[in-house]
Amino acid sequence: MTTETLDIKITKNTQSRLAQTDFSQLTFGHTFTDHMLVADYADGEWKNFEILPYGPIALSPAISSLHYGQAFFEGLKAYRHADGNVSVFRPDKNAARFNKSAERLCAPELPVDMFIQSIAALVDVERDWVPAADGYSLYIRPFMFATDPYLGVVPSNTYKFIVLTCPVGPYFTKPLRVKFETKYTRAAEGGFGFAKAAGNYAGSMLPSRKAVEEGFDQMIWTDSKEHQYAEELGAANVMFLIDGKLVTPSTRDTILDGVTRDTVIALAKDWGITVEERRVPITEIVEAARSGKLTDAFGAGTAATIAPIGAINYEGEELTLSDPASREFSNRLLNSLNDIRYGRAADTHSWNYMI
Ligand SMILES: *Cc1c(COP(=O)(O)O)cnc(C)c1O
Repeated sequence: MTTETLDIKITKNTQSRLAQTDFSQLTFGHTFTDHMLVADYADGEWKNFEILPYGPIALSPAISSLHYGQAFFEGLKAYRHADGNVSVFRPDKNAARFNKSAERLCAPELPVDMFIQSIAALVDVERDWVPAADGYSLYIRPFMFATDPYLGVVPSNTYKFIVLTCPVGPYFTKPLRVKFETKYTRAAEGGFGFAKAAGNYAGSMLPSRKAVEEGFDQMIWTDSKEHQYAEELGAANVMFLIDGKLVTPSTRDTILDGVTRDTVIALAKDWGITVEERRVPITEIVEAARSGKLTDAFGAGTAATIAPIGAINYEGEELTLSDPASREFSNRLLNSLNDIRYGRAADTHSWNYMI
């Protein structure tokens, strides 16, 4: 990752909103910092990298991303260490995944070093917005969308890359009551479930709403062919501790290759826990829950980190899992992850990118 320094024009906001922001009242994704980063792709290259005051941007109503969904995003976080330093967690992984999304959606690649330098420069400008309290962080939302004002179903020639940042507090993780989703499909083989494409989330809203109407917090998506295998938990990866082994669906084109998932797997391996990445039949989870062998189950993602599953409903049978507060594995995970991210434990995998 060595290239020349990216030329970024910086125009600072003269009136920071930081002092008026109540950090005890943050709702995820509602509070934005003072600045954003914007860049343009045109004539085959990325240019006009600029950090400027956060605010509306003017766009043609004909831009193709609004009509055909050529848009995708990333999500990562910056953390403040006890010594005041700020680090971003594994941005190289997000940069690589951003380009996988770009490739699948026929959008231009954003070189990894441009992605990382853009984020580093914006976080540096917003350094004072990175909260210090445990469980708090600065959420970073990079995204790209097509901007050709043209109603043809073809890849755009021009794009915008934008990065927004939001201070966020601890995600409220009451144990989730979930069901297996066996009617709707999030992603199919040959599709683009592995991409963080905007359209994937639009398609999940109706099934989510129906699940909530039925009294569930989330659904476990299942495979599109047979609805027999677990795939993801809402917009997070799903992980199970069965008989002391960490079991999780293997990544494929229907599954988002999560950074949190990868991190959990690495820590589990460090601790000598057997990890099985494979297809996970619903029947296996149900049997394990019935026999008490399912000792932990959770969603893994950047927003919530670890979201414990409290109960799984299978064809009307309510399988109640152990109290999340008493779960050894997921609590150890959360503590270890936080210790690394906030600089309290050795970062043996070099996951923290210092700003
Ligand atoms: C973002 C996302 C995840 C989690 O990925 P992280 O890199 O851990 O944040 C998992 N599944 C889906 C569908 C997602 O959109």
